[in-house]
Amino acid sequence: MAETYDFLFKFLVIGSAGTGKSCLLHQFIENKFKQDSNHTIGVEFGSRVVNVGGKTVKLQIWDTAGQERFSRETYNSLTNWLTDARTLASPNIVVILCGNKKDLDSEREVTFLEASRFAQENELMFLETSALTGENVEEAFLKCARTILNKIDSGELDPERMGSGIQYGDASLRQLRQPRGTQAQSRQQCGC
Ligand code: GDP
Ligand code: MG
Repeated sequence: MAETYDFLFKFLVIGSAGTGKSCLLHQFIENKFKQDSNHTIGVEFGSRVVNVGGKTVKLQIWDTAGQERFSRETYNSLTNWLTDARTLASPNIVVILCGNKKDLDSEREVTFLEASRFAQENELMFLETSALTGENVEEAFLKCARTILNKIDSGELDPERMGSGIQYGDASLRQLRQPRGTQAQSRQQCGC
């Protein structure tokens, strides 16, 4: 049976190499930690259909390869990643900052407060995650999807704009194609 969804959102996982991007993607899609993490070459992608705010949304997630490595350096290069995302993808892009490897607390180099402030100053959402334990992984993707949906509802994001990273799924298209009368009627019937 063909997949039915209201929207397709394109997600990009960007950040320095070794921060756990591929593991986060794997945890979200397969619900398990990828032990034998080999380096991502170029771009890989995965997808999962989720329900958020009463809508069915297909998240098409692109996992990218980065170059830098290790520790606080990965935090220091955030500004560059952010600039790339906002100039190359879209200035309206919805961004969540994931401080991954939350389980390695003894090796922490960036405090929660410091990263929270950075997120606030740069208008990002922020969560600390662990691809290993799965903590906050689902939340991170869903929080992002929920925010995008809200911005579509409020008109801040226009799915029809080229390069928005949003597509209507067949479920919404079917609704859009319905003549106005029937749309009003079905709204009455569903009582929502
Ligand atoms: P990427 O280069 O950003 O795609 O990073 P990978 O997903 O390949 O992960 C790099 C290394 O970090 C691998 O050895 C993973 O096993 C490890 N790793 C990823 N996420 C976590 C995490 O949440 N906790 C811990 N302890 N290790 C992780
Ligand atoms: Mg990778």
